[in-house]
Amino acid sequence: MPELVLSTSTSFFFGGIQAAFRNAQKYGFKYLEIVPYRWTRPETILALEKTFGIAVAGIHLPGWWQKTLWQAFRDSPDILEKALVPLWYFSLGNASQNPGLALAEALEARRPYLLLHSNVVEEMRGAFPSFAKTYRVVVENIPVFRRSPSRRFYWDPLEIHRTIRDQGLTAGLVFDIGHLRQTRKLLPEINLLEMYQETRPEIIHISYNSNGIHTLPDKPEQIELIALLKIHQPKYIVLETNPLVNIKRGKELLEKIIEESQ
Ligand SMILES: [Zn+2]
Repeated sequence: MPELVLSTSTSFFFGGIQAAFRNAQKYGFKYLEIVPYRWTRPETILALEKTFGIAVAGIHLPGWWQKTLWQAFRDSPDILEKALVPLWYFSLGNASQNPGLALAEALEARRPYLLLHSNVVEEMRGAFPSFAKTYRVVVENIPVFRRSPSRRFYWDPLEIHRTIRDQGLTAGLVFDIGHLRQTRKLLPEINLLEMYQETRPEIIHISYNSNGIHTLPDKPEQIELIALLKIHQPKYIVLETNPLVNIKRGKELLEKIIEESQ
């Protein structure tokens, strides 16, 4: 059975990481996915793990490896995402300097996953292979907003899987259904079920109605999610919704979905 994980995205603006630990304990999660701010200290996270009895399952690095604010803004594909770039840039910074790396080292014995968006892997280029050998890397598909020149590696989990394997490397996959559904609006030929079946991802992200909105699945999306889980059960299902979504409701819904998929 998949383990439910709470993302610190659920308290990004209110209370931050500490609030996420408190909510995880309050609502009965055992694991957190941490999105470290630029100022997050690994020691703080280790102390919070002890205080709340919650373990860090994984660490979500920022959406750029090494860019200036201007480059990050310029490369952001969509108007809503562009509007959020200064906020992400100020609060998370570049992945290469993010404290998530020090946190992964502090937690080394437990090997939490280190999440990179597909575009970050591409940006890293030559730096990626040694990175993938050092850490337990998982790669997440991002949505595309234009038919061209969007690269298949960005949005297609199967392409991500193949490309990494062809380099002789191993990395887990984060199957972000919200991102894929968003991509499908542009590329209706996408067969989500088939992609899922062939990649058998380690992690599912719950971030429906993408475009930075990140909500819970509606009824048809719930039915689709049950169908996916019947094909393959990932290790983790991460509630990566926005801070206005009710965490308790999200957890109960996901538990019901997992139960129905057994
Ligand atoms: Zn995601």
